[in-house]
Amino acid sequence: MDTDQACLFCDIVLGKIPSRIVYRDKDVVAFEDINPQAPTHILIIPVRHIPSVLEIEETDSALLGHIYKVVRQLAHEYRLNERGFRLVINSGPDSGQAVPHLHFHLLGGRKLSWPPG
Ligand code: 5GP
Ligand code: ZN
Repeated sequence: MDTDQACLFCDIVLGKIPSRIVYRDKDVVAFEDINPQAPTHILIIPVRHIPSVLEIEETDSALLGHIYKVVRQLAHEYRLNERGFRLVINSGPDSGQAVPHLHFHLLGGRKLSWPPG
């Protein structure tokens, strides 16, 4: 991505916008959602700017595997493995995706209804 182009989550990765970071390595960052929809609501993002699921490439398979490893680690840390959790990726306008930087919502700590709104 053009570094001059503004992206909220790239700015969070760079520390230009403060956030409660709960996990970080060179490829993945996880932080608390500013407007939590459940007792645990964490956003897990790739450090690299990928706008949405539609721009994931086949060469990103190791990155995706790594993201799921971070999800499993956080699920255990927050004890979501015991009663379950939901992993959500919004993509595009109908889903309500507000931030065009791929992110996985990790939601848990309460009973989650289905179907989603
Ligand atoms: P989306 O609707 O794109 O799937 O999700 C974007 C998420 O980012 C929302 O749940 C929203 O609450 C969260 N969010 C928006 N701005 C900020 C921010 O500045 N900091 C943090 N930590 N979360 C944010
Ligand atoms: Zn970005």
